[in-house]
Amino acid sequence: MAEASPLYQTYMRAPLRFERGEGVWLYSEDGDRYLDFAAGVAVNSLGHAHPHLIEALTTQAGKVWHLSNLYDVPGQETLGRRLTEATFADRVFFTNSGAEALECAIKTARRYQFVKGHPERFHIITFEGAFHGRTIATISAGGQEKYLEGFGPKAPGFDQVPFGDLDAVKAAITDETAAILIEPVQGEGGLRTASNEFLRALRQICDDNGLLLVLDEVQCGVGRTGKLFAHEWAGITPDIMAVAKGIGGGFPLGACLATEEAASGMKAGTHGSTYGGNPLAMAVGNGVLDVVLADGFLEHVRDVALVFRQGLASLKDRYPDIIEEIRGEGLMLGIKAKVPNTDLLMAMREEHVLGVPAGDNVIRLLPPLIVTVEEAREGLKRIEQAAEHLQGKLKAASSNQGR
Ligand SMILES: *Cc1c(COP(=O)(O)O)cnc(C)c1O
Repeated sequence: MAEASPLYQTYMRAPLRFERGEGVWLYSEDGDRYLDFAAGVAVNSLGHAHPHLIEALTTQAGKVWHLSNLYDVPGQETLGRRLTEATFADRVFFTNSGAEALECAIKTARRYQFVKGHPERFHIITFEGAFHGRTIATISAGGQEKYLEGFGPKAPGFDQVPFGDLDAVKAAITDETAAILIEPVQGEGGLRTASNEFLRALRQICDDNGLLLVLDEVQCGVGRTGKLFAHEWAGITPDIMAVAKGIGGGFPLGACLATEEAASGMKAGTHGSTYGGNPLAMAVGNGVLDVVLADGFLEHVRDVALVFRQGLASLKDRYPDIIEEIRGEGLMLGIKAKVPNTDLLMAMREEHVLGVPAGDNVIRLLPPLIVTVEEAREGLKRIEQAAEHLQGKLKAASSNQGR
């Protein structure tokens, strides 16, 4: 079947075919039900088929789908205002994806230095284990060899240092540095959290050196960590921030947010996107914010996250040969496995609970933010069964070796 596929063979897809979803559940073509703790890689923030999002999308679909940015798109003004009122930002540029939000962030940072009279300042300091997308610029920013190989020379202007290493950051700053770019919680890289102190120190270093602090909150933003944006935990604000995934709840939508000052170089004609800020995307984005910004929603995320994390910590204690560490923040949690993470993921799939592999032998658990305590407990039970199953296999293997 693989030979016959018309598709690029770029993805290693699981042999599962889902035809419908509801809340935290996905239903396969053969009628099986799976607990979806992958959520389209932190995208389906309100789960599947959320009535409010269906209403928002279908109502807009009956009016106008697409206008281009030749005209005002009222939904952009609304969503933009809500985002700026809820964050540090004064300006928003809408995109269709995370990588495009990062492209806009990179361009905004470079352009800021350019209009300040420093065209030579175009370098951006990034971190090992980072993931910023799959465009030529963002694979260079991410710096991971496996994503760069074979695609020509790495785009210039990205200087990587170890995650969390302040001295390395300081040493990497030159007269050509424009900005520092970091994910407050690394997703793809294996659920590593930048400490509050580290983020605060980066803020200070940027202020001291005329650099911009750029955050990639494509995965950890929009309520995922229990705050609207993850950097709020550290009590700092960035100059520029890339957002996507959860803001669209499953509709392709991203945004680059910036302060007035940081966005000052982005004059008419400097950037653009055909689809960015399309009326359908704006309707859904506004629908997502209706729910996420409602009283008590983020508190709900924090409450469920606590139960979920405690449950995972107890699984780690009971299955030390399977689980090495629990990581992450809020509903962006990671199991660092002792066995190959793909083995644990497969065992979980057999128990009909879905997660996402990450670097450093981690499995990401990214349930929809609407997950209830009961559903989190159901997930824990299934993960426990998966661990139990693997434990049994390990024991059988070691007793075979003993013979
Ligand atoms: C997913 C992701 C991206 C890229 O988003 P796309 O929509 O796939 O382009 C960038 N940064 C982070 C942190 C991500 O998790």
